[in-house]
Order: sequence, then structure tokens, then C-alpha cells
Amino acid sequence: MSTKRDYYEILGVSKSATAEELKKAYRKLAIQYHPDKNPGNKEAEEKFKEAAEAYEVLSDANKRAQYDRFGHSRPGGGGYQTHEMNMDDIFSQFGDIFGGGGFESFFGGGGGGRTRQRKGSNLRIKLKLTLDEISNGVEKKIKVNRLVQAEGVTYKNCNTCQGQGQIRKVVNTMLGQMVSTTTCPTCNGVGQLIDKRPAGVDSSGLVSKEDTLSVKIPAGVADGMQLSMSGKGNDAPGGGIAGDLIILIEEIENPNLKRDGNNVVYDLHISFIDAALGTTVEVPSISGKVRVKIDAGTQSGKILRLRGKGIKDINGYGQGDQLIYVNVWIPKKLTAEEKAKVESLRSSPNFQPHPEAGEKGFFERMKEYFG
Ligand SMILES: [Zn+2]
Repeated sequence: MSTKRDYYEILGVSKSATAEELKKAYRKLAIQYHPDKNPGNKEAEEKFKEAAEAYEVLSDANKRAQYDRFGHSRPGGGGYQTHEMNMDDIFSQFGDIFGGGGFESFFGGGGGGRTRQRKGSNLRIKLKLTLDEISNGVEKKIKVNRLVQAEGVTYKNCNTCQGQGQIRKVVNTMLGQMVSTTTCPTCNGVGQLIDKRPAGVDSSGLVSKEDTLSVKIPAGVADGMQLSMSGKGNDAPGGGIAGDLIILIEEIENPNLKRDGNNVVYDLHISFIDAALGTTVEVPSISGKVRVKIDAGTQSGKILRLRGKGIKDINGYGQGDQLIYVNVWIPKKLTAEEKAKVESLRSSPNFQPHPEAGEKGFFERMKEYFG
């Protein structure tokens, strides 16, 4: 991750570059490093992908703002994820960059003869996870209804594009003749149309099929994060590469433990007698109940820390802690007899508060734990 170059540097623009400047800079690099111009040149291919990724992020106002704030490091939970772009993604970006004509125009018409592979649509599912599952990572079997190529479908050639999937037009411009290529609107680039299809098969030759997938969820995911499994989405109509399965993580709220980043927080209530005399209590944790010693003289508001009882970091940077907030319960109702007992202690010097004796107050504690 840390080896990534700065996106602005990659495109050779300033941090204040306008959308137009970004587009211009990217267009230049895309032409320079295009695989058709640099066959077999790995370095050019890397540069080509690098520029595409930089442009993908910086051309999106939201992603750019995030990148300006956080750089390449992903903020915990719900942040943007830069993804390794494949060639298909990159070429689909070009419609925007080079105008409707597509990329080929810049090379005098299909010298490279690259035909873009069609990609199936993405499937989205929500996956609910408990804190326990999130903490340790989990392997889940999930059922998805995917659209897959149906059996028994017969095809005929598309007349509009003569089976090519694309329509080419030669356009005369100031710069000479250019070939513009567009996807055939009749067959959507497949080149073929369905002749006969069995019942239940849709007009693109796909049929819904229930699939059970095994999904490995890494430890430390958070509510709102999306995981992507490439090729586990819907099949592409007429053949091509399947789309992705996008898994949206939902955290099932735990009745006792609240998550705070990689830490989990537990609110403990003890009686003022237990606080004064000390005791041992049982406290829920992600990994079951744990016994915790309460020292005699424990103040309300004290925060106890169970090291390593929190959630594993998604990037492998250790594990969070469990924090226990101690709340000392003051009785709200007392019998006459109880009142008399407590009253008899009222004037004892030991019952007078003296926070100056090394006891931290609220603000001190907050500073200690949250900086
Ligand atoms: Zn066609």
C-alpha cells in the first residue's frame, strides 16, 4: 500500500488541478502508455493502469476529497477503497475521456483490434455479522441467486452489425479520417441475438440459479464496508466475464458491547458497597464471559482495560481492547432501617470526597483514553 505513488504526481498535475486539467493530463498518459502502442511492455502497462486508477479517484469529487484528506490510507469504516483496475474498467472509462467515438479513433481505426470483453452485472448482497464473527474473521456459506448462461438457447447473427457487435463509422475531421466505433445498439455488443430460448430464460439468454458460495470474511471488517469477489456476480449475456459479487457488511448490534473502532466498550454497574469493599464481577466479552477484579475504593467513571479483548485490526495492526466503564450505582430507594445505617456513616471522614488524593476526574480520564 505504502509503495503507491501520489495520484497527482502520477498525472503530473497540481493539487488544485481542475477537472479539465485532470482529463487532459490523463488523456495524454493513456495515449502514451496504451497497450496497443506498447505491445508486451510491462512497464508501460503498469503506467497505464496507474494513470487510470489515479484518474478514477481524482475525477470523482467525493473520492478526490477523501484522497486529499487521507491519502492512500483508508479511513476506518466506509472509506473509499482504491481497487486494482482491470483493463475492462479502464477501457470503459474511455467513453468519458475520448468522447463517444471510443479509443480507437486515436489510432486511425482499430490497428490494435482490441475487442472489449463484455462483463456481467454485479450482484449485491448484505451480510449480517456478529461482533464475534467480525472480531475473528469468519467463513460463511451464503446463498445467492445468480444469472447464469442458460442451456438450450439458440442464437442467430445480429443483422445490424453483421455479428461484429460493433458498428464502425469513418468520419472526416480536421485531423484526417478517423474511425469511430460504437457498440451495436441492437445486440448490445454481443453480435448475436437469441433465436429460441426455453421457458424461464430471459431475453439475454440468462437464467436465475441458486448458488451456495463460501465467503471468507477477514477479521476487523466494519458496518458499511463492501467486499468484492470478482467473477462471482452474474454471467455476461452472450459470454464474457462474469460480474462481481459485492458484499455489504452489516454489523448486528450486540446488546452489551458497543464497538468503538477496534475497541469494544462495556458499561458496568456496581453497587457503592462493592466499589468501597472491592469484589469480582463477571463481564461479557466477545469471547465469552470474563472475570474482572474490582479493587476496593474504585471510583465511578473509572475505565478498566482488558488488553487484546477487542477486535482484530483489518490491516493486521494488532487487536483492540475491551474498555469497561465503571458506573457506581447509588441506591434510589432505601428502607427506614437502611437510611439509618447510611446516615450513621454520613459524617465519617472516610465518606467525604477528596479527589485531590490522586483520583482522576472525568476530564483527566477522557484525556487519558482518547487523547
Ligand atoms: Zn448487433
